[in-house]
Order: sequence, then structure tokens, then C-alpha cells
Amino acid sequence: MKNKSSKISASQPLDSLIAGRWVAHNSKVAVMNPVDGSTLAQVSSATPDDCLSAVDAAQSAFNSWKATAPRVRAEILRKSFEIMIAEQESLARLITLENGKVLSDARAEAAYAAEFFRWFSEEAVRIDGDYRRAPSGANWLMVSRQPVGVALLATPWNFPAAMATRKIGPALAAGCTVVLKPASETPLTALAIAEIMQRAGVPDGVVNVVVPSPSGPAVSAMLKSDRVRKLSFTGSTPVGSLLLAQAAEKVINCTMELGGNAPFIVFEDADLSAAVDGAMLAKMRNGGAACTAANRFFVHEKIYDAFADALTTRMSALVLGDGLDAMTTVGPLVSKSQQQQVAKLVDEAKAFGAKVACGGSAATDSSYGYFPTVLTDVSFDAPILQTEIFGPVAPLVRFKDSDDILSHANNVEHGLVSYVYTRDLGRGMRIAESLESGMVGLNRGLVSDPAAPFGGVKQSGLGREGAHDGLLAFLETKYVAGNW
Ligand code: NAD
Repeated sequence: MKNKSSKISASQPLDSLIAGRWVAHNSKVAVMNPVDGSTLAQVSSATPDDCLSAVDAAQSAFNSWKATAPRVRAEILRKSFEIMIAEQESLARLITLENGKVLSDARAEAAYAAEFFRWFSEEAVRIDGDYRRAPSGANWLMVSRQPVGVALLATPWNFPAAMATRKIGPALAAGCTVVLKPASETPLTALAIAEIMQRAGVPDGVVNVVVPSPSGPAVSAMLKSDRVRKLSFTGSTPVGSLLLAQAAEKVINCTMELGGNAPFIVFEDADLSAAVDGAMLAKMRNGGAACTAANRFFVHEKIYDAFADALTTRMSALVLGDGLDAMTTVGPLVSKSQQQQVAKLVDEAKAFGAKVACGGSAATDSSYGYFPTVLTDVSFDAPILQTEIFGPVAPLVRFKDSDDILSHANNVEHGLVSYVYTRDLGRGMRIAESLESGMVGLNRGLVSDPAAPFGGVKQSGLGREGAHDGLLAFLETKYVAGNW
């Protein structure tokens, strides 16, 4: 499956960035190419002590960054946006190489990631406060915002660029300094973005990047230090929950963007072709490895067969292969274990009575690919509906009773995003209000937007990223009671 040009650039940083210097460590972590399991690069693996040095660097840089004029902070972010856009193609290639997603998805991610720098460069100069009279009339209440302090940012492998910029952007805009810990499967993109930020003029110590492997002891050491004041984590619910417990010890301010298990509801009056387009987007963006991925398709019986046929035709037409290859429309999953997890879920669903309309097996070469799969006749109680699939598999459930479907959609512990297709906007809005998720796509298969508050309810997380909310996550409210 492998493309001939699968080599990283000679200028790719491979070491930790601490206090503005690239620091090599003796121990290395291998970054694998998901196309064939070969080693793409050896990245310096930071020990817990190295990570604490990065926290020290962020702490030393904090006071001067906090005092830096918002306009200057904004211009560094703006410059970072401009460089990322100018270098979109090489960043996209790097994302594809280490993550496996197809180049078109990687280009879209590079642009989306850059947009967070542009958005937060605009937000940096909009940090407001207020000034009011106390109800008693006896004094004044003055409210302002201050940066939380040193922020530890931990990101997953599925969006190696966007999850990093969605955190670095607001943190720097707010006046916080950061230690970024990318996923060890995909650290190259994060290191490349840090190098871009250096070129954009970010002062030493404001952005630090470490790649500890294993992650657990290093993250725990940083959370135990008295200097980290913010944890912004994106990843799975079990790891998020573990880190929340650790953050509790020092009462660290947390934002948690965790797993999803999105329902995709198609009512009988839906525009079929729009629903299938939306389903392809909601399911197959990033090869199905997205927290926003539609995982549970509930389709009204009157439209079920037509929807299943159309979706199967579209899914069967996808070409699994090397993401760098122009003919490829689905790349491999990031790792062998991810591939095995998807295969296990499909096998369990089959044992539970699901029928395979297309796909249903792993790639037969040495890649971590899995063929795009549609499962029909999935029952409401099938275990696959309770698990985040994180791969190119669409389980389709037939429903009859439209009044009942909401309770099925809400019957999971996750609540990140839901999708609804109907021509009746009144019904669509009523359902959207009652869905237990932080976001809803109403006749849309894509909700992500740097200007929108992204985040979930229930076990999908705490807090929001993007929009003005994303900035507030890195700010504390300070109230001064005044008399004169
Ligand atoms: P993960 O939880 O395994 O890892 C996320 C990060 O935590 C990585 O940097 C990893 O190295 C680190 N980590 C893992 N174990 C740790 C430990 N014991 N202590 C400290 N750090 C640890 O998640 P993943 O597999 O990289 O990503 C997939 C998950 O991320 C999915 O569940 C997906 O839904 C979720 N996700 C959520 C959002 C969102 O915005 N809600 C966005 C993207 C991905």
C-alpha cells in the first residue's frame, strides 16, 4: 500500500522544545507509519524530570507573557496562522504520514487548525471585564479577567494539528504559557507547529512541547507540581476521568474534551440525498476516527432501505489505501490495536445478528486499514451501539416510532454531538433541544467551526473550546470591591 514519497523532511524537529531550545533526550519513541508499520522517525522521549523542566520554563515565561500587550500576543498568533496556511501542503503531508488519514482530510485539518490561531488572534484583544454599582448603591463592583497560569495541554492522535492549536491559541491569547504533550503516536505535527510558532516570534518558554512515553508518570508529575494551574485535555473518557481525579489533588482548573458516540437520526421526511451526504461526512471524516463521528444510525423504516442502499453504494466506492496516494479516499487507522478494536466490534455485532452490507474485514496487507463497512439490521440493544467505534463502520438501526427515538438516542453515557435529518424544522428544533449532547447538526453532517463552542455533556467532557468560550477557559475572573 505504501507510497514512494513516505519520508519526513530533513528539517523536521524531533526533540523536546523547552525554554525555546530543542533538547535531545537519550531515550527515543518510535513514530510508526500506519501504512506499513515501518518507523517514520525516532522522537526524543522526555522523562518526568524533563517534563518538569518544561513546566519550569513555562512558569519563568509566564509573568512577562501575561504582561505582553494583547495586540502583540494577537500578532504572534496571526503570524502563526499565516505561516501555517503558507505551509499547508507540507503540514498536511506530515499529518497523513504519521496519522494515516487521506491527504484531502489532512489539508482540511491543517486549514482548520490554522483557523484557531486566526480566531484567537482576534479574541486576544477582546478580553473584557465589567464595572457595576452594587445593588445597595454603597460601592462599586469591578470585574476583570486574568490568565489562569501555566497550562498543561494533552492532545490525542486523531487531529494532531487541530487539537493542539485549539488549545495553544486560546491559552496564548489569554496570557497563559503552555506545556503541550501530544499523543506519542503523532508528535511530529505538534513539533512542527511549535517550530512555526518560533518563527512567528513566540518568546522562549511560552510554548514548550514534550513527548513522554509512557505518558502516565510524566503527566502525573506535572499535575503534582505546584506550578500547573490548568489542564486542557482531549482524549478518551477513561483517561480523562483518571486525569480529573489526579487534577483534583491540587484543585487544577480543567477543560475536558472526551469521547463521543453520536446518534444520526434520519426521519421519514428527510431529504434522502442530503442525509446520505451528511452521513458520509459525519461518519467518514478522518476515516471514522473523529470524536464527532456518527456511530449510531437510527433510520425510520419508511426510508431505511433506500438510505441503507445509497449509503452502501457510497461506502463501497471508497478506496482504502495509502493516504498520500491521490486515488485513496480512506487511509488506514493509526495503529494495529485500533484496527483490532474495530474488527472486534464488527465481529461482535455480527454475532449479535447484524448483516454486513459492505466491508466487514481488515485490510489483508501489512497496513492498519479497515474496509468501509455498513452493518444493517442492527438491534437497539446491540453492544456496538454502546461503544465509540473510531473507525469506518456505520451500524444502521431501523425505527418505527418517532416519539421513541429520542430515548434511544440519549441512552448512552456520551453526549458530544448528535445529527438529525428532517424537513420539518419544528420537529428538528424540538429534537435538537432534547438531545443530551453539547452540539447538534440539524440537516448538517459537520459541526466543527473555530467560532463555535465545541464540547460535550455527560461523560463527553467539561467546558468548551473554540468561540469566546474557548478563551474564557484560560481566564480567571477577578473581582475588586471598591469604595471612594
Ligand atoms: P487517549 O485518551 O488514549 O489519549 C489522549 C492523550 O492522553 C494522549 O496524549 C495520550 O498520550 C495521553 N494519555 C494516555 N494515557 C494516559 C495516562 N494514563 N495518563 C496521562 N496521559 C495519558 O485518546 P486517543 O486514543 O489519543 O484519542 C482518541 C479519543 O479522543 C477518542 O475517545 C475521541 O473521542 C477523543 N477525542 C475527543 C475530542 C473532543 O473534542 N471531545 C476530540 C478528539 C478526540
